[in-house]
Amino acid sequence: MVNNKCPNGKLLVTIDEHSGFCFGVTRAINTAEQELRRGALCCLGDIVHNGQEVARLEALGLQTIDNDELRSLPPHSRVLLRAHGEPPSTYWIAQQREIDIIDATCPVVKKLQDRIRECYETHKNDEPQPPQIVIYGKAGHAEVIGLQGQTNNTAVVIEDINQLDRIDFSRPIYLFSQTTKSVEGFNTLVEAIKSQISNLKSPIALEAHDTICRNVANRVAQLQEFARAQDLVIFVGGAKSSNARVLYNHCLEANPNTLFVSSPDEVEEFLQQRGLTGSSCLKIGICGATSTPLWLMEKCKERIQNEC
Ligand code: SF4
Repeated sequence: MVNNKCPNGKLLVTIDEHSGFCFGVTRAINTAEQELRRGALCCLGDIVHNGQEVARLEALGLQTIDNDELRSLPPHSRVLLRAHGEPPSTYWIAQQREIDIIDATCPVVKKLQDRIRECYETHKNDEPQPPQIVIYGKAGHAEVIGLQGQTNNTAVVIEDINQLDRIDFSRPIYLFSQTTKSVEGFNTLVEAIKSQISNLKSPIALEAHDTICRNVANRVAQLQEFARAQDLVIFVGGAKSSNARVLYNHCLEANPNTLFVSSPDEVEEFLQQRGLTGSSCLKIGICGATSTPLWLMEKCKERIQNEC
């Protein structure tokens, strides 16, 4: 942990050493920085679910594009695919338009895509009924779109046990998880599916694959321990990041005095609202998601030290 005391000795601001970019995001951002030195570069979708980091890379020349813009790029444009990965249709479009793909898909996500595709290809013609692939994840999330694409978009996506009615309980189930979902949520889902199956007249097979990335899952215990040791926790994350929301909720569970912010300005507002400027003795912890850059947490820390 990096500790810092204000000159009055009353404030202790600590940045959680385990917070910040995961391996996959670091790799994608390093690739973008390297490729930008070689020339113009587009990224399909936000490179990371953190507006401030996207803005930093856009200032270096990175152009964020959407799928419609991908279809109208001139041949030999260079397009980076981010850590979340893409469905096969994206590679097909790029090939048709002679676009040069720089593939920064996280290797962990790539491996999961391969597993799901292999499962789909192996079982799609099974008799009497083809099984269904179920993905425990957030519908519409970039990674989930990439995973569904491996099954010709036949996979069913469910976010939690309240969506069990989306599953067809007359067919065998192959369950996988989006990499950033919680292990606890996955286990709860598996138990709920098993319980439904046990009530069926003709039981069906369930094959559950816990494909949650331990880069995220292992952070929960560390983060909660860190949060418990603070008087106040500032969780820094992008509004669009599902990983940030999951980790924030774990922090909140460990310390109800936890605030979600996306920028140093929000930190300042919060401190003023709570009358914490020129404060009494206070331990403030700063932490973030796998998509939160260290420089942003450092800026939040500076802002607290300037305010208090
Ligand atoms: S959370 Fe895991 S799977 Fe997702 S980008 Fe990071 S390292 Fe890769």
